[in-house]
Amino acid sequence: MTDELKWYQQPIESVFNALDTSPEGLTGDEPKARLNKYGYNEIITRKRGPLVRLLLQFHNPLLYVLMVAALACFFLYSFMEADTLMDMWVIIGVILATAVIGFIQEGKAESSLEALKKMMVPRCNVIRGGKTENAPTRELVPGDIVLLEDGDRVPADLRLFLVKELSIDEAALTGESMPVRKEIDPLPHPNLGPGDQVNMCFSGTFVTRGRGKGVVVATAGETELGKIAHVMQETKKTSPPIMRKIAAFTRLIIIVCIAFGIVNFIMGIAFGYSWIYMLLATVGVIVAMIPEGLAGAIIAAFAVGSIAMSRRNALVKRLPAAETLGCTTVICSDKTGTLTRNEMTVVWVHAAGRDYRVSGAGYEPEGQFYLEGEAVAPNGSGRDGLVATLTAGAACNNCILVRGEQGYGIKGDPTEGALVVSAKKAGLAEISPRLDEVPFSSDLMYMATMHESGGKKVIYVKGSPEKILAMCRDRAADGKPEALNRAAALDKASEMAQEALRVIGMACKYVDEGKMSLTTDDLHGMTFLGLQGMIDPPRQEAVDAVKKCKSAGIRVVMITGDHIETARAVAGQLGIGNGNNAAFSGEEIETMSDEALGEAVKDVSVYARVTPEHKFRIVELLQKRGEIVAVTGDGVNDAPALKRADIGIAMGITGTEVSKEAADMVLADDNFASIVAAVEEGRHVFTNIRKVILYILPTNVGQGLVTVGAVLLSPLVAAFALRLPIEPVQILWVNLIIAIACSIPLIWEIKEKGILDRPPRDPNEKLFNPLLVQKVAIVSGISALSVFGLYLAYTGIYGTSAEQITQAQTIAFTTLIMVQIGYLFTARSIDDSAFTFSPFSNKYVVIGAGLTFGLQILIVYSASLFGISPLRTAPFPAIWWLPIILVSIAGFLAIELEKLVRRRLRKAGTTS
Ligand code: ADP
Ligand code: MG
Repeated sequence: MTDELKWYQQPIESVFNALDTSPEGLTGDEPKARLNKYGYNEIITRKRGPLVRLLLQFHNPLLYVLMVAALACFFLYSFMEADTLMDMWVIIGVILATAVIGFIQEGKAESSLEALKKMMVPRCNVIRGGKTENAPTRELVPGDIVLLEDGDRVPADLRLFLVKELSIDEAALTGESMPVRKEIDPLPHPNLGPGDQVNMCFSGTFVTRGRGKGVVVATAGETELGKIAHVMQETKKTSPPIMRKIAAFTRLIIIVCIAFGIVNFIMGIAFGYSWIYMLLATVGVIVAMIPEGLAGAIIAAFAVGSIAMSRRNALVKRLPAAETLGCTTVICSDKTGTLTRNEMTVVWVHAAGRDYRVSGAGYEPEGQFYLEGEAVAPNGSGRDGLVATLTAGAACNNCILVRGEQGYGIKGDPTEGALVVSAKKAGLAEISPRLDEVPFSSDLMYMATMHESGGKKVIYVKGSPEKILAMCRDRAADGKPEALNRAAALDKASEMAQEALRVIGMACKYVDEGKMSLTTDDLHGMTFLGLQGMIDPPRQEAVDAVKKCKSAGIRVVMITGDHIETARAVAGQLGIGNGNNAAFSGEEIETMSDEALGEAVKDVSVYARVTPEHKFRIVELLQKRGEIVAVTGDGVNDAPALKRADIGIAMGITGTEVSKEAADMVLADDNFASIVAAVEEGRHVFTNIRKVILYILPTNVGQGLVTVGAVLLSPLVAAFALRLPIEPVQILWVNLIIAIACSIPLIWEIKEKGILDRPPRDPNEKLFNPLLVQKVAIVSGISALSVFGLYLAYTGIYGTSAEQITQAQTIAFTTLIMVQIGYLFTARSIDDSAFTFSPFSNKYVVIGAGLTFGLQILIVYSASLFGISPLRTAPFPAIWWLPIILVSIAGFLAIELEKLVRRRLRKAGTTS
């Protein structure tokens, strides 16, 4: 394009020509054909291939230790004729298995995130063949016509040809934080940077205000953003706080274990074991005690949890969200659409000083108008005020009523839908053509339109009664205009709002014919027409969900742009607020200091006429009080509050693209109940993670202790002086199979009863807490006692020939496995008795335990079954299964006892 004119230099007609399109958009199969030619409109970030990901699994300090051990075995075998070849193979097997398991777990987490992403495809409004459709942005092609609205993300590079107060935040591209006002005229200058091309819009920026139309000139890698995308890194992955804690914890453990291992090695040699044997034993101890499977299991647990959340309509965008959700103490929710159904019906019209009630339900345009109980003809004589109010509502409107198979529905904003319907009920159908518009925004709280009206021009405005009345000078009546009593009108609005109605005010003004365009500056000296009050019933699920929050120790706070009385009334219907009906309006918040508001947020649960800035402050102050805050938001200005919140929640249906981008979680159904479902799942995930930790760490320490303990006791215990009770390769096996088959099933542990009847978890809870220490002590103690006990009993009874020692070791090895299987069945609940749920309710636990046991049988009898015994085992007399099973049951019962004692102590603590 060197000698050609750039897009922003050309008049719009030549842009249309060059792209072979028109304001009506592409037609027929053209979009498809161009999609084939240009490809999808997406910037592909290079991802690591599966091979690289698999290889990266070996980059793990633990596996380095094992690799060194395998090498050592190989050298010992080759040069010193030691009997270590089989050990080498076993170690290599463990290395491979660990890497593959890590690979699978990571892949699972990644694919569940991918799947969630697919459920959240960005979409945009495109005009094709003269019709507007909502299409995925990745299907955009050059020549498409795109409609922009506030909160939209610009989906491709566009040359604008129609703007209405369009402002774009281009910070993502230019770093400029002030929104740029857009225009449509060609710009002659040849070398403008993107920031100065004010008739263009660029992919990745977003609309802060107004509307616009543009033609797509570049997609995917051809966009300005695409051109710099190669310098951008793959988005950094945020890992859940728990993962960071685990990583730090694991580093500590690794150091401790290696130190421990060295001491073990030196002592072992001092106490007379051969150094080759001690080398292997030390590797066994180190590997056993490092909880290598923990990080992978936790990631997998998050993946399982996020899938469960998505089934309940809560799509998390980042895994940490699942963890934070579990700690949520306050949920700040929008009212309209989240707590209420967002199906508006006008039931009360106040016009020209009269109060009309309107019958009918939903969007069906059938209903009667009543005045003091008497049905009246809405467009009869003396009803000018009513007609004008209804007309204004229907004219100043972007919603259309559609008749579908299941009756009437709307396309557009429900608030506006209700106004279309109320006008239709009065038989008002024809609306004069619209000439211009000031679009609605939550900041303005109104919208205005200008129409042709019998040679003159009329401006209609509708919005919050306060804003509308502030623009008005007089009031329409069913005769000549009257003086406006603003206070009386506001009182009327308040009276209507107390019935939980959403109240919208209407006003009009005639202007002279020469007026061509409409701006906010024109909206003064208007004539007040009336008010329309609409019901928006609370969602039944929301009522239940608010109740659940109460028992779960979570406070629900309503933050709405609506009238304070409406907010209060709806909050009452939903049961929000601690029995008080204290509420604050944005006006009051504005005047309050941070100290005063910080104090107030403690008890006040309803905030009305709130702007996004107020919302941000409320969130911040709640957080200062130590609350973990989840916040919903849908508009473009909600992004800061969503980012600031611990959990930002966007609306999947009505939310803007910008809010979805800023959020941590998107609600597929916009429903408050889904937030509570997500909190429940978040708690569930975290409980399962705790179970995994409280299973892996005690069993790992137990595995280490049986070796270290034996070395330390060897000067005292004659039977330990010959060989360790459990062979090093056997310890490696226990560690591997327990990590895979017994710990991982806990990530699918079923939800405990009453998970929402407890207070939220303290996010600062230490990983290394007394409960963990206690479980480690009990489990490792029991493991060591039963392993040593049975080993000593066997060697004591039968003797210590090489054959008998191998059998005794096999018994000890099997005992360790069985004790840890026994522990698995009680580890399924941290506090509750294992007798309160069915042992089969988590089938993965049953499968894992069965697999471990089955393999153990094969290992024990491998010499007789296959003629080899890679794990140095030998079958023992069958009667010895009896004590093995008994000690594993005893281990199970010991933990049950520990839980019982804790439950009793807690009960005593709460009752005294
Ligand atoms: P919320 O959804 O929490 O009620 P909004 O920001 O959507 O808050 O709306 C704030 C106020 O703006 C509403 O209470 C109403 O008075 C007014 N309003 C809402 N929608 C429209 C609309 N389409 N046109 C004019 N005014 C509106
Ligand atoms: Mg709204």
